[in-house]
Amino acid sequence: MDETLKPLETKTLAEKLYLVRFKVDSTSHLAVDDKACQECTARSCLFICPTEVYRWDEAASRVIVSYEGCLECGACRVACDANVLVWNNPAGGFGVCYRYG
Ligand code: SF4
Ligand code: SF4
Repeated sequence: MDETLKPLETKTLAEKLYLVRFKVDSTSHLAVDDKACQECTARSCLFICPTEVYRWDEAASRVIVSYEGCLECGACRVACDANVLVWNNPAGGFGVCYRYG
């Protein structure tokens, strides 16, 4: 079979994420509003993020943001019904580094 016609190798999400690298800044490019998050019933950010950046801390009654693993896909800023999520691009030179091929 012609090599160019062979299907691409399929990878699991975990395998794909393993190929991604991050240059982590000391300052978060994401922020939530604690009061709005406490009142939020959907908490869509907890479910939409492919790398589980957002986690609900029951004891502290707040959303924990692990910005270090952000893929910069932007899904969370669209999903936040309350529109309170602060989403900035990471500072120059920081953030996700994708490897293609
Ligand atoms: S969806 Fe928005 S308001 Fe709701 S918990 Fe997430 S960041 Fe907070
Ligand atoms: S931009 Fe994407 S990867 Fe980053 S926190 Fe939002 S949903 Fe998660």
